[in-house]
Amino acid sequence: MGETLKKRVAIFGSTGSIGTQALDVISTNKDLFEVEILTAHTNEELLIKQALEYKPNAVVIGDESKYEKLKSALSSTDIKVFAGEKALEEVADFDTYDVMIAGIVGFAGLKPTLKGVEKGKTIALANKETLVVAGDIVMKKAVEYRAPIVPVDSEHSAIFQCLIGEARNPIERIILTASGGPFLGKKPNFLVNVKRDHALQHPNWSMGAKISIDSATLMNKGLEMIEAKWLFNLNADQIDVIIHPQSVIHSMVQFEDGSIKAQMGYPDMKLPIQYALGFPNRLKNDFPRFNFKKYPNLSFEEPDLKTFRNLGLAIDALNAGGNKACVLNAANEIAVWAFLKNRIGFLDITAVVEKTMDAIPFIQNPSLEQYFESDGEARNFAASLIKL
Ligand code: NAD
Ligand code: MG
Repeated sequence: MGETLKKRVAIFGSTGSIGTQALDVISTNKDLFEVEILTAHTNEELLIKQALEYKPNAVVIGDESKYEKLKSALSSTDIKVFAGEKALEEVADFDTYDVMIAGIVGFAGLKPTLKGVEKGKTIALANKETLVVAGDIVMKKAVEYRAPIVPVDSEHSAIFQCLIGEARNPIERIILTASGGPFLGKKPNFLVNVKRDHALQHPNWSMGAKISIDSATLMNKGLEMIEAKWLFNLNADQIDVIIHPQSVIHSMVQFEDGSIKAQMGYPDMKLPIQYALGFPNRLKNDFPRFNFKKYPNLSFEEPDLKTFRNLGLAIDALNAGGNKACVLNAANEIAVWAFLKNRIGFLDITAVVEKTMDAIPFIQNPSLEQYFESDGEARNFAASLIKL
């Protein structure tokens, strides 16, 4: 394959868990991919290292105070250096990349991802918050600008893979699997005392701090239900969640004949990242192969909605539509941040989200501007509850 046929990849959030794993995938497939853009928020040291190794066309550091250091470290190269929030959208507007890895965490990923969609780029979407906040607008634009959205979130990648070849066959329901996180089986009297470091220890996956806490509270699965609604055009009652502690079945689709397809494998994010980068091709790799004989027991149980109330709140938001999920997401981002700073307890996360959802006025069909306003109002309200 000639040089010019390589897919040019823009990694938004290159210093994170998704971003670094995407670079690993690219490293082992240098004949197929090259790096065009790298962006990071505060970790300029790692961004410099990545830039010198992968020689992108452009890099962006979110934190403007790090600009000079980044610029001088890359002065012997012809890499373009930018800083600040606006620059993320500006580089997303470049013509010179083919695939965007949307690997920024949280609401901050929405604007650059939308810009990539408006450019008609293929979006390898890890940043689920983009769809939670404004899924209707993002999916409408994806159709309008013919931007394929290929999920990176492992559950949604599983469903996406199960749907290949099924374009004419309606989905009866999907079954999202959840590991249950580090506190599976625990009750509120235990959770009331858990601390940040314990909550960050996920049994099956090594991930960024925010999604690790979301996995511990089950908010992550709620966000994923909303993500699935938009990605696969489903009604709330077509989306089920089942706890599957081994995380071997990554999710399932049930069709109208009752047949269920599952996608399986070891829990390793490199697989869905590689699938999204290679799509529609599957790339050969030497990742460990799953062995059924070593896993004689795959188990399933109902989620405990009484204990993990965040999942119930997300289901409420899913059912309500409008700006509810945007508000839920904003309050959750503030509450998780406060928990990570040891400012509030684990169960307070739910209280902050619930009170914020009750307080912010409901809007049935928000414009993009109104989503931004709801996000801001919810953040302010949640912060006032925590007395930040
Ligand atoms: P992370 O915290 O490890 O990395 C986040 C990245 O985003 C970093 O590069 C950081 O510099 C950048 N970033 C953070 N705040 C920013 C801001 N305000 N502006 C610009 N850039 C900012 O997070 P992660 O675990 O890699 O998760 C990234 C996204 O992927 C999240 O939406 C998460 O839900 C989703 N996801 C992650 C995993 C996983 O295994 N880590 C799995 C599924 C989905
Ligand atoms: Mg997931």
